[in-house]
Amino acid sequence: MNNSVARLKDHMKKIEQYQTIENLLYWDLATMTPEKGVDSKAEAIGFFSTEAFRLSTSEEYGSLLKELSAPENYNTLEPAIKVTVRRELRDYERFCRVPEDFYTEYVTLKARSQRAWETAKKASDFSVYAPYLDKIIQMTKQYVRYMEPDQKPYEVLLDMFEEGMDSQTIDRVFEELKEGLRPLLKKIREAEQPDLSALKGTYPISGQKKLQDMLLSYMGFDFTKGTTAESEHPFTSEIGSGDIRITNHFREEDPLAAIFSAIHEGGHAIFDQNIDPSYAHTSVMQVNIMGLHESQSRFYENILGRNPGFWSPIYTKLGKLLPHFQEVPFDTFLKAINHVEPSMIRIDADEVTYCLHIILRYEIERAIFNDEVTTEELPALWNDKMEELLGIRPATDAEGVLQDTHWSDGSFGYFPSYLLGSVYDGMFLEAMEKELGSIEEIMSKGEIMKITKWLNTNIHQNGSLYTSREVIQRLCGKEISARPLLDYFNKKYSEIYSF
Ligand code: ZN
Repeated sequence: MNNSVARLKDHMKKIEQYQTIENLLYWDLATMTPEKGVDSKAEAIGFFSTEAFRLSTSEEYGSLLKELSAPENYNTLEPAIKVTVRRELRDYERFCRVPEDFYTEYVTLKARSQRAWETAKKASDFSVYAPYLDKIIQMTKQYVRYMEPDQKPYEVLLDMFEEGMDSQTIDRVFEELKEGLRPLLKKIREAEQPDLSALKGTYPISGQKKLQDMLLSYMGFDFTKGTTAESEHPFTSEIGSGDIRITNHFREEDPLAAIFSAIHEGGHAIFDQNIDPSYAHTSVMQVNIMGLHESQSRFYENILGRNPGFWSPIYTKLGKLLPHFQEVPFDTFLKAINHVEPSMIRIDADEVTYCLHIILRYEIERAIFNDEVTTEELPALWNDKMEELLGIRPATDAEGVLQDTHWSDGSFGYFPSYLLGSVYDGMFLEAMEKELGSIEEIMSKGEIMKITKWLNTNIHQNGSLYTSREVIQRLCGKEISARPLLDYFNKKYSEIYSF
């Protein structure tokens, strides 16, 4: 049996070599590649990902996985290997059920559709993109039906991005949130709104970059295991073990966007940097459970990063690196980073209204997969739901249905994981404060690393050994619920907006 486990790890290591190169190429494409080098990089990515795909679907690998999954063998395996065999065999069997010519057509369509989406978004014209989106929807339904013929397509998609999750749980949790957020948002909107004009000014990018490095070190990002660069959209990437990189996008007039992107991506990176290295060459090393991953980036960004305790020990440093902050009273800064206001664009939304942006997308995806809405009806449905949930109506498709890239490449079922991340955060916060006491007090004393260590021990080191539901059961001893997140919102915003 030991020999078979060694062969499994060997095979996974081989696949990882290709993935390392693939990720490095993606990283380069997003940060460094000159315009005329794009095509050759894209071609190389195609080459390496095909090789990796061949290895994951080779017959030899399939028989090894089947051998290891036979009960008499499987029961003797250690937990990380069990998880690996289960996931690898599931993916192997799924891929084997998809006809090759269908797969090629689907991948090609996704690339074309993404380009059509970019064009449509620039022109704010849904009609350019509609035929592609329609085809993507049909083909995604078919793709998932090939993979799991006996399951409902949307359930399979949810599970692909958030292992162990189902629409029944999401319906329950999101309904709970919707009910709880309506009165909260009403109170916030009726309260006196803060004057944030002191923040208007210029914040040199060189200073913003130094601030980013300072913040990352402060949170616990390990620069011996990672680095930073600039790209159009911030992201985190693992370039093989011991090398977790993040990117950011800087604008002189808006330091807050870059600050919170740095904290968010830093949270993703700290997770990956702290997975127990003994899980090397098992699937535990890769956390493709997006809700769990997002819970960590959003914990740093929102729960910690928007807390006064995070900033009080370092606020004078902000003024040293970016002198305009010397003219911004600390209290105004806190009000600015916690300002709640309904707006059109998800990625610019505050932590409260953000929830509603995701609920909107989830409800639309559910309607798409229940065949309750046609593609042409999507822009109007989007706008109606914006009005219902946030009380505002997009004037153009660019600030409505065209704003996100996810659907253009078939990533239906991804959106809920962002909000599930925040829901988990409410629960993690409760468990953490029970054990460590108030996070505001800890951070005010300059001891944020105590919090990072708690997350390292209780969540990060386990990688994807446990699903989110299991992590929550182990840490909080209860079922997933939106109540703790709502309690956190209500307590926090009643203080900020004095109601
Ligand atoms: Zn993220």
